[in-house]
Amino acid sequence: MSDPSPSETCLFCRLVAGDVPAEVVHTSDGSVAFRDINPQAPTHVLVVPREHHANAVELATQAPEALADLVRVADAVAEAEGLAGDYRLVFNTGAGAGQTVFHTHLHLLGGRPLTWPPG
Ligand code: 5GP
Ligand code: ZN
Repeated sequence: MSDPSPSETCLFCRLVAGDVPAEVVHTSDGSVAFRDINPQAPTHVLVVPREHHANAVELATQAPEALADLVRVADAVAEAEGLAGDYRLVFNTGAGAGQTVFHTHLHLLGGRPLTWPPG
């Protein structure tokens, strides 16, 4: 038997499908934006493609327009949250860099002074 599809096993596929509750703040044809369950800033929103891709580079390779859509949606959320163009976008890529969910997600962080470099 083949492995179960990501739509059944992947947390963010299940969230996009509405099977896992989330505070959705914005949607587009290709993306869904929702508040992080463990926010690290006053605004901490995750923007995910509706289709399953494991990380940012797979999305860039397999569906570049969907990657661009994540960035546009993040900017629209930032605007709606009153961040006035001051925000940070992050893709953690690989477990060693802190990626824990292997469905591409763009972190939008803002609403407080953001130090550089991040930890
Ligand atoms: P990563 O560490 O993979 O870059 O980011 C995963 C993010 O997903 C974390 O910031 C974590 O707090 C968030 N997260 C994990 N599970 C859930 C969930 O069930 N709902 C929401 N809204 N966020 C989640
Ligand atoms: Zn997925």
